[in-house]
Amino acid sequence: MVVFGPVPSRRLGRSLGINNIPAKSCSYSCVYCQLGPTHTLTAERTSFYSPEDIFHAAKRQLESLAVEDPLVDYLTFVPDGEPTLDVNLKREISLLRELGIRIAVISNASLIWDNEVRDALLDADLVSLKVDAVSERVWKRLNRPHRSLNSKRILEGIRRFAEEFSGDIITETMLIGDIDYEGELEPLAEYLSEVSPTRAYISVPTRPPCEDWVRPASEHLLNRAFQTVAAGLGHDRVEYLIGYEGDAFASTGDTVHDLLSITSVHPMRRDAVSRLLTRNKADWSTVAGLLDEGKMVELEYGGHTFYARKLGDFR
Ligand code: SF4
Repeated sequence: MVVFGPVPSRRLGRSLGINNIPAKSCSYSCVYCQLGPTHTLTAERTSFYSPEDIFHAAKRQLESLAVEDPLVDYLTFVPDGEPTLDVNLKREISLLRELGIRIAVISNASLIWDNEVRDALLDADLVSLKVDAVSERVWKRLNRPHRSLNSKRILEGIRRFAEEFSGDIITETMLIGDIDYEGELEPLAEYLSEVSPTRAYISVPTRPPCEDWVRPASEHLLNRAFQTVAAGLGHDRVEYLIGYEGDAFASTGDTVHDLLSITSVHPMRRDAVSRLLTRNKADWSTVAGLLDEGKMVELEYGGHTFYARKLGDFR
């Protein structure tokens, strides 16, 4: 299916998916990929579908929605592979402009060093870029790139793109268990501060991954990554994507709902939890209940106690 949805997402609201790459051509073969193994591992851009066919499929889909449920926030290139492998991406974005809806591209960033790829992405309104690691070691371990790719070149390409682009950049950093992140998080945080995305997402695999051994990172590592990245970028520009839809500003008066909703987006320091309890006229027994039920965990970091959403298991 070349066009699917719309699907709801915290990042993009309601998004109509554009699948401009057949399953599964990618420049990476990430160990956590939920699409299965990469059959065609390539870094060579080529033509897959006719841009006019993609445009007409999107137009038809929007027309079929128009009567019952017209609202779409983004047309999003989120294919079964890497969207920038498509040599027609710029032309497709230009055609889709006619539909009057914002355009997003979810990319692994591996080809962003190429001037033509950056030129195509500049025409989008929002670009999501994968930055799982800044060291060659972790990048190769997690993303298993095509052999022609070079991590330094990619990181430099992202920097250049961030300087040139006037739309929103978001970054996504997937953390997985059983990987040695020693010496990784501080340089990663420094790098993300330089790129200065509108929002940096820290995620864990939430669906069955390509490789059996892959597990989500621990809540402790997730919290450490959050605090390290937030120290440079600011707490309001870092969010979790951990398989629960949450709202950082939830305040419904229902303490359990508010705690689970906020900790789905970021860990909460003890004093912030205290303030929420006071506001909702609740006490610490609610927190104790959520800890007992295994819905939240208590973590120590940097001399403070944090409360975080307990991660689910995708098995
Ligand atoms: S870049 Fe995306 S599509 Fe490609 S292997 Fe990684 S997760 Fe899968």
